[in-house]
Amino acid sequence: MSKMKSSESVKVVVRCRPMNDKEVAANFERVVSVDVKLGQVSVKNSRGASNEHPKMFTFDSVYDWNSKQVELYDETFRPLVDSVLLGFNGTIFAYGQTGTGKTYTMEGVRNDPERRGVIPNSFEHIFTHISRSQNQQYLVRASYLEIYQEEIRDLLSKDQSRRLELKERPDTGVYVKDLSSFVTKSVKEIEHVMNVGNQNRSVGATNMNEHSSRSHAIFVITVECSELGLDGENHIRVGKLNLVDLAGSERQNKTGAQGERLKEATKINLSLSALGNVISALVDGKSTHIPYRDSKLTRLLQDSLGGNAKTVMVANIGPASYNVEETLTTLRYSNRAKNIKNKPRVNEDPKDALLREFQEEIARLKAQLEKRSGKKKKKRRRRHPGEGGEELGEDEEDEDDDGDEEAEEDKDAPDYWRKQQDKLEKEKKAILEDHSLVADEKQKLLREKERKMEDMKKEKEASEMLAAKVKAMESKLLVGGKNIVDHTNEQQKILEQKRHEIAEQKRREREMQQQMECRDEETLELKETYSSLQQEVDIKTKKLKKLFAKLQAVKAEIHDLQEDHIKERQELEQTQNELTRELKLKHLIIENFIPLEEKNKIMNRSFLDDEDDHWKLHPITRIEDNQQMMTRPISAVGYKRPLSQHARMAMMMRPEARYRAENILLLELDLPSRTTREYEEPAIAPKVAAALEAALQDEDEIQVDASTFESIGNKKSKSSRPKTGKKSSTPTSASSPGSSASPLYPQSRGLVPK
Ligand code: ADP
Ligand code: MG
Repeated sequence: MSKMKSSESVKVVVRCRPMNDKEVAANFERVVSVDVKLGQVSVKNSRGASNEHPKMFTFDSVYDWNSKQVELYDETFRPLVDSVLLGFNGTIFAYGQTGTGKTYTMEGVRNDPERRGVIPNSFEHIFTHISRSQNQQYLVRASYLEIYQEEIRDLLSKDQSRRLELKERPDTGVYVKDLSSFVTKSVKEIEHVMNVGNQNRSVGATNMNEHSSRSHAIFVITVECSELGLDGENHIRVGKLNLVDLAGSERQNKTGAQGERLKEATKINLSLSALGNVISALVDGKSTHIPYRDSKLTRLLQDSLGGNAKTVMVANIGPASYNVEETLTTLRYSNRAKNIKNKPRVNEDPKDALLREFQEEIARLKAQLEKRSGKKKKKRRRRHPGEGGEELGEDEEDEDDDGDEEAEEDKDAPDYWRKQQDKLEKEKKAILEDHSLVADEKQKLLREKERKMEDMKKEKEASEMLAAKVKAMESKLLVGGKNIVDHTNEQQKILEQKRHEIAEQKRREREMQQQMECRDEETLELKETYSSLQQEVDIKTKKLKKLFAKLQAVKAEIHDLQEDHIKERQELEQTQNELTRELKLKHLIIENFIPLEEKNKIMNRSFLDDEDDHWKLHPITRIEDNQQMMTRPISAVGYKRPLSQHARMAMMMRPEARYRAENILLLELDLPSRTTREYEEPAIAPKVAAALEAALQDEDEIQVDASTFESIGNKKSKSSRPKTGKKSSTPTSASSPGSSASPLYPQSRGLVPK
């Protein structure tokens, strides 16, 4: 028994559903038989040779097609949920081919109390337990999530397109980041949470049947319980219940799938095959590495498989012959899971208990409230002398007192406020009636009173708000017999009790029968004495035959398993081939169409993110330790930024500190050198000059000589003027004769009056 405490096996139960209408109509043979008493299932392999023995499997308990939901709950699930209420972690898996009753077992038919599944039954169980508890405070919250194609969706969140990530913390382990959880105060509330989640589940799916057969749904209930320990301290225990409706276990058809579709197909059952690998590795005993990290499901439920949790696995099977392969696979799979050892323990005072936060917040708010109504409280304190001893005692009594205290407050509070108000009103009246006061003074006093009244009103509102907040928070913390009352009568309670006892007895009986069966075979041998040699031969032959049959069965089993393995390997090889082919195509494209340099750059930047198993690229700036990109220019060694040659020279040469480290050039205007010259008259030799002078002189004389033909001469000189090029001399020479011959000027034509 002591060993049981430190480690316990995963409990595996099998449930076979009834034949459905179609199967009955098609007249399928029933190949599954169930021995409920012994906890054995046998499967007849109709395809094998006719003399082949049926395959036998033994489990913790088995349920046939007549099994009732309540029966399963009382015998198998109730003890687990009880453990959760004590602070253990618990997990219930439903495993099996699609259409074998996983959802029926987990959820069942919601509105029918007879056919309700584990999840609704556990709601009832948990809240009934709380309502009957004494001196304990409870906080219950629920979350609901789904894993589809390795993506996690929060079924309770408003934004259904968002995908959540898994994170790990050293103290609390793996958790889903940003998963919403709702504090629920009653069965109704938690049922509502489940309904909302279920609605969201179908919203995201185009084909609900296909979707549910390919996705895992996990409903999580966290129960926190606070109780006074033996050491006089308040302790919190936290139990977490995972209710898992797994994807259908049938093999997904991958043949012929390519590209995106192949990727999808390989992802669909990744979590499920990873679960199988984890189970194998755990049972193997030789494996040092358990591949939890291979899928989201196994990471999330790491504790439930070989860790700190109590786990029940329900293997659902169908009875008809055409499902025989899947049924056998399911039975083998769950048969292995039986051997997983868990190490459950009570989670006491974990750091992240929400209940503790609530309690602290309530205490803080209460203190605030007390401060506000300090006077009032003081009065009342005197009326309740010597209250409470130890910490929680006070707390608890507080709880108990709260009832009448609240009632008192209800009576008192309005009274108190009314009295104050009356007092102020009276004072106001007195002021109004007081004739000895001056009008001004009266007004002032009145205003003051009114302000006081206003303040009082505000104060009252604030206190009321605080009180409401405290009340709201306290209502979330459930206390048996107060916030939550059990309405079942004594007779029903006794009936329930008896049912549990019967369930327990049944379980023990089955265990004993299984043990007896084992021992029978051993002891028979020891006890037997033989009266004659012949008898010994007979008996031993019989035994030999029996053993031989067993040997054959085992051999057949080995053969089957090998065949299964071969089939699985072929499938894997095929997938691998497809993937290799695709990889080759990608290679071809990269090698031929992407420049080598670019490829290398990208290769250097890429890394595998373990958290979400995706290849990612480092941001470009981070490559600097590779010294390939974004290195600082050589000119900037030791400086804040690249410097020009000029700036550096300036720094060295000039004493002033200004612009020392700056890259500013100080430049005077650099005037360009002159490219033109002043005009100089060409130098003329004196002889030439004299000759020219002489020549011009002559011309003058000629003009003078021709004074009789002035009009002609004038015209001539005008036209000849440009030819000489000498402006200064010509006009003088021309005007001088003109001035003397003024009567020869033409008459004005009258345009400009003279
Ligand atoms: P799964 O979730 O494994 O795909 P379901 O739970 O949806 O399968 O069950 C398929 C059908 O079989 C449902 O119509 C369900 O009501 C019926 N069924 C399954 N198990 C039982 C059972 N034990 N008794 C009666 N009906 C059952
Ligand atoms: Mg289902």
